[in-house]
Amino acid sequence: MQMRAARMHDYHRPLEIDEVPVPEVGRNHVLVKVAATGMCRSDYQLLDGYFRDGLPVDFPFIPGHEVAGTVAELGADVPKSAGLSEGDLVVVDPNWGDGTCRQCHEGNQQLCGNGQLVGFGPNGGFAEYMVAPFDHVISMADQPDHDPQYLAPLTDAGITPYRGMKKLRDAGKLGAGRTVVVNGIGGLGGYAVQYARLLGGGATVLGFARSDEKLEVATEYGAHHTVNVRDKTSEDVQNELEDLTGRRTVDAVLDCAGSVESLGLAATILATEGALSQVGLMGDRVELPIFPFVSGEKSYFGSFWGNHNDLQEVLALASQGLIKHHIVPVKLDDINDNLEALGRGDIVGRAVVVFD
Ligand SMILES: [Zn+2]
Repeated sequence: MQMRAARMHDYHRPLEIDEVPVPEVGRNHVLVKVAATGMCRSDYQLLDGYFRDGLPVDFPFIPGHEVAGTVAELGADVPKSAGLSEGDLVVVDPNWGDGTCRQCHEGNQQLCGNGQLVGFGPNGGFAEYMVAPFDHVISMADQPDHDPQYLAPLTDAGITPYRGMKKLRDAGKLGAGRTVVVNGIGGLGGYAVQYARLLGGGATVLGFARSDEKLEVATEYGAHHTVNVRDKTSEDVQNELEDLTGRRTVDAVLDCAGSVESLGLAATILATEGALSQVGLMGDRVELPIFPFVSGEKSYFGSFWGNHNDLQEVLALASQGLIKHHIVPVKLDDINDNLEALGRGDIVGRAVVVFD
């Protein structure tokens, strides 16, 4: 059987829509008929060579790491206890660790040194079918009314800021009387604002972005205040902060952009004992002012993607109707135009490739 797949044949080249064989399902694997695959800025970066050294891929290669679909076939050794049946609505937990290292045993397969990230090593979901290990396929069969185009983005755009926000919460940086900023309201930031409200313990939530259209999404998702930071100095932003919150500093920042500018701004506005949680990957280095960070006991956390439990928690919140989505459906044939738009930062919400 043949399928259509958007494949990468080299760096710095558009994806090509190829007719290729449907992959064979391994004994411990599941063949997923893909219904929806989210498009991430990191897909643009993959084509652009950003991950060339850290996550080299073999060409031709099928990207796409935010996948929802249905079970098309189960491998011969998939145990009954996996609770999977043909036709089930499923999402793919995208981080496949080796299962043997300390990080895997702690449940953090996304941190495994020998692991695989689907769509960055194993073929992903910009195709009509893909295979995944059975223990990374999560059945939503008890909630068949879920729309795959809303489920797919939860596996990265949904869980990445969730984990980042949990780090701020667990470090005691949120709560009543404190202020948390979500910097960058793109695919991740729209979810991040909602987590700031859900996990914030009453903290005041601000959204920062460089476009009013994106800030409207932040407001719709529960930000108490927003600041358009385009072409503004740190001092301009602090003046606005003072007008909005009565303070020139904030206690926590979840940075979903990762640019030199966004990190510089975050470092400047962070209060004593404040914390910066970093999930955005736009730039390639972090510069922090040492004396203010040391003397003010400020913290910087890297936070990478999310583990299986993070995903289960986000799926549970979504099932309870607590997560709003802003989805832009895309046809597979239009994937390159949308990748370029992602590179420019022109997508409001999450673009999702939807299959028939
Ligand atoms: Zn491992």
